[in-house]
Amino acid sequence: MVGRFLLLLATLLALTLPARAQDFSALARYEPERSAITQQGGQTEITLGISQPVIYRVFLLAAPYRLVVDFREVNFGTSTPQELLGGADAITNLRWGAFRPGWSRMVAELDGPVRLVSSEERTEGETEIRIKLEPVPVEKFTPRKGAADSALWDLPQPAQVSNAHRRQDGARPLVVVLDPGHGGIDPGAEDGGTREADIVLGFARQLRDQLRRAGMTVVMTRDQDVFVPLETRVTVARAAGADLFVSLHADSIAEGQASGSSIYRLSDHAEDDATRKLVARHDRDDILAGVDLDGQGDQVAHVLVDLARRETQPRSLRLSQVLAGAIKGAGLHMHKHPVQGADFSVLKSPDIPSVLIELGFLSSPADRKRLQDPDWRARMAAAITRGIESWAQSDAAEAKLLRQ
Ligand SMILES: [Zn+2]
Repeated sequence: MVGRFLLLLATLLALTLPARAQDFSALARYEPERSAITQQGGQTEITLGISQPVIYRVFLLAAPYRLVVDFREVNFGTSTPQELLGGADAITNLRWGAFRPGWSRMVAELDGPVRLVSSEERTEGETEIRIKLEPVPVEKFTPRKGAADSALWDLPQPAQVSNAHRRQDGARPLVVVLDPGHGGIDPGAEDGGTREADIVLGFARQLRDQLRRAGMTVVMTRDQDVFVPLETRVTVARAAGADLFVSLHADSIAEGQASGSSIYRLSDHAEDDATRKLVARHDRDDILAGVDLDGQGDQVAHVLVDLARRETQPRSLRLSQVLAGAIKGAGLHMHKHPVQGADFSVLKSPDIPSVLIELGFLSSPADRKRLQDPDWRARMAAAITRGIESWAQSDAAEAKLLRQ
């Protein structure tokens, strides 16, 4: 007990030291050779070997049943969760990685309700975290509420926007929110040694610079390899007073030979099966990252959603069409359906025109090559910039007309 207290105190002291002093204490490393998942007498035990003690916490989530472990930053190196998972029946999926700056997360998807039998960090000798789980009837399952945000991390919350945002009419710089998809514990699609999260972040930075050169104000939902829940991405756009929201992706599609760029705007029904699978996978990525969906959507529910959407939907549709035209006009390869409807969560802001651009598909070797080609990226960023400029002009003209 005293040892635990001293450890906590030491860690707190380390946190308050200036950054330079912290450089001496190396990051905790995950040690795969001392880690295992074992099952015995109905219980499942997860042992994680780490190079030094870290602050951590464990909790359970429902729908689907998940175990979440948050740690002060742990470097997992090149070890994959699949190596640890092995043949443990009670755990159907495992993920880990960066969650918030300075924090790492592991999420184990469970095949049914469990209770936390024990959870301890052994700090004598080699450090390890041991977590024991046991199946319980569903009525005995006690998930934690509000897991996405916690006093454990001091994340600045986006400011509340009280006044309705005035529709842009060209009188001030356009505010664009760029949303590089995935990140941190959620790598997105992975194909041919490339991660969607990295590709879209690199491209978003390039596009941000182009848009700024064109005189626009740009806010990014993330500018590093961290996890951002889907709902937070929408909140960031509201807090920034966004005139438009552009989510950037480069997914994989298992079926068919999909290739080329495509633009999605919000629609209640996805127009084809591949798109439905894409949408489902994005929502699933959020769940696998340990987001608690309880109480989500309240923020948006207070807005006069339908009324706002009636005006915003046609503006989003025009934005997607103008962008598709600009990309095609630049001679860049487009998907056979360049503009599609789908109910991606990030497109659900009722009053901010929003689109999701699939820059290409990581599952297509040709697209993968293009996505990494500096020349292609520069041309794509220029085309999107032109598209946004031309949309903003006609959108501003319409705003003025409506006001008369
Ligand atoms: Zn994606």
